[in-house]
Amino acid sequence: MYIMIGIYIGEGKVIQFVNVNNNGGRFWFFAPSLSSSGASAGAGAGARRNQKTNTCPTPYCGLEKVVGSGVRLSCIDCFMKEDKLCRFKYDASRDFLYAKMIGGTCTMAKSDPAEDVIHRATYLYENGYEKYNLMSNNCEDFALYCKTGLWSTNISYQGRSSQANAVHPTNRPKDENRGLGEFMLRMVTVVPRSLAKREKKDLGHREDVVIVPVEELFSFIISLT
Ligand SMILES: [Zn+2]
Repeated sequence: MYIMIGIYIGEGKVIQFVNVNNNGGRFWFFAPSLSSSGASAGAGAGARRNQKTNTCPTPYCGLEKVVGSGVRLSCIDCFMKEDKLCRFKYDASRDFLYAKMIGGTCTMAKSDPAEDVIHRATYLYENGYEKYNLMSNNCEDFALYCKTGLWSTNISYQGRSSQANAVHPTNRPKDENRGLGEFMLRMVTVVPRSLAKREKKDLGHREDVVIVPVEELFSFIISLT
């Protein structure tokens, strides 16, 4: 199960980041503050603006300001679809994190005030964002950045999403070719170890993350490569 995560900005509106399967370039930044040569990393991103991506009668719903960026405005009904709405928990205790067996539910990192969160989400909606990647830059990564302003300096492992971390190869027991007895024995030790790894990879626990102002995010990501 994959949990969709977005940022509620008030008045029934959600900003979310979806996979648009666009292979045009790594970045989808409009990057208004950069020169045209600097913005070329975006492979023409931002050339088209304001495209409606669904048939919802609400005028703003499904709008993508930077076409191809995957950062969209949605009404709360379309965001929820048939599912129930849950609140992602920030500043979770270690016990709370361990009690939640599945990712996409909580983090030990603290949330910034609502106005900062809405500013980041709105800025990325209006100017574009880095390209979608299920393992290293998904909807949870987007929401975590909007909520905390934290971005990893570790170029080899950017993913901050707890959903991706739960299935990342370095966090998965290698039991496929083992017998049942050995599997059961390993489960006794692997599950706690796996939870410990999840804690270690939690955004609130990692030491390779720094606060990056949203206006500087594009140049910051460029500086890592
Ligand atoms: Zn809608």
